[in-house]
Order: sequence, then structure tokens, then C-alpha cells
Amino acid sequence: MSALDVDAYLYNKDVKCPVCYTAFKINKVRGRKLKIIKKHDDLYVSYKDINPIFYSIWVCPGCGYSTTEKEFYEIKKMQIPTIEESIKKNWNKKDYNRERTAKEAENTYKLAILTGQLLSKPKGYMGELCLKLAWIYRDMENSKEIEYLQNALNFFEDAYQHERLPVATLDELTMTYLIGELHRQLGNYVKAIHWYNKTLEHSQIKTKRWMQLKAREQWSKAKVEYDIVKKQKNK
Ligand SMILES: [Zn+2]
Repeated sequence: MSALDVDAYLYNKDVKCPVCYTAFKINKVRGRKLKIIKKHDDLYVSYKDINPIFYSIWVCPGCGYSTTEKEFYEIKKMQIPTIEESIKKNWNKKDYNRERTAKEAENTYKLAILTGQLLSKPKGYMGELCLKLAWIYRDMENSKEIEYLQNALNFFEDAYQHERLPVATLDELTMTYLIGELHRQLGNYVKAIHWYNKTLEHSQIKTKRWMQLKAREQWSKAKVEYDIVKKQKNK
């Protein structure tokens, strides 16, 4: 993207790190400028010219503390030494607060996952980080996509059982659908069908018509894929 285009999509916001008190600027994406080019089955949306998920992670250039915008100020005082000892000590002072390449976006998610592990963030939040990193790998055509889809699935199943939803940006209905869809993408068709059924039986499904249609469509897709695999096994 040219500098002019970048300015059209990104704007700055001043923030202050709650760990090391460095004042810095972060880039935010102008949502209304985005033009959709593809909606993926696992709710990833590709846009023309820019990938907004590249900018979801706020990285402090002073200490490396990295989270989503919503979590940035959620750190407790007693947790600060953990970040200082585990991230700040080895931090190379890289400034991510400008146009990001896919590789740089990948690094910001890895930092956010590390920060999340150190602070014992909710599994739903961790799952969402892993899912977005898988999407970045998908665009890079990197086989690590599968590894991170699996990580996301593990976190979501854990969150579904043990956490109060919604967590991060996922409500229970969306998470139910996503668990089904991730199972399908990973080739677990019986489990996928089970979770699509759960989605379709959910009390709130009537309020999300598009998800009802999508879950039915993916249910059929998983059934066809399951039959193909079964036939091949019986050969
Ligand atoms: Zn900091």
C-alpha cells in the first residue's frame, strides 16, 4: 500500500502502557472504509487493500506487553512484575505501531498469546487470538494454519464448558457454531455435525437467521464429506 492509502485506512490514537507507562501511538482501522471481498466459513472476513486483524493487537514499544484493545487496561498491579520479568527483560523495543506486514502481524499475535498465557486470560480470549493467527497463516499459505485452528478449537471447547459467555467478542451461539466449523475443517465430521446440531437447537438461533442458514449449509457439507471418507475407508 502507498503512504496515501495507509492514511486512508488507519488513524492514530494516543495510549499509555499500564505496565511501563510508555506513551505511544497505536493504529486503528477506519471500519467504514473497508470493502469485503470474501466471507469464510469460520467467520473470517477478507477485505480489499487492508487486513484489519493485523491491527487488533496493541503492542507497547517500551516493554512488549501485548493485548487486544479491550484487554489493554485490564492488567492488575500484582500482575505487572510477571510481564516485567518474562517479556520486558528480553524485549527488543520493536515498534509495531505503523503499517504491519503479515509477518509483523504474526509476531504481534505471538506476543499477545504469550502475554495471555502469563496473565491466565480466559480460554475464550486465547481461542480468539489463535483463530485470528490461523487466519493470518491462511493468507500466508503457511501450514501452521492447521496447528492454530486446532489450538483455537481446544481453547473454545474448554471455554464452552468452563467459562461464562460471552467472552472476548464471542457469544455462546457463535462459539457453538465455530466449534462445529473448526471440527469440520480439521476433518472431525461426526463432532462437526454434533456441534452444528447444537447450534441449530440453540434457544437464540431464531435471532440470527444467517447463522441458522450457515449452520444448515455446513451441516450438509460435513455430512457429504463424512460419507466420502467412510466410503474410502470401506474400500
Ligand atoms: Zn509498556
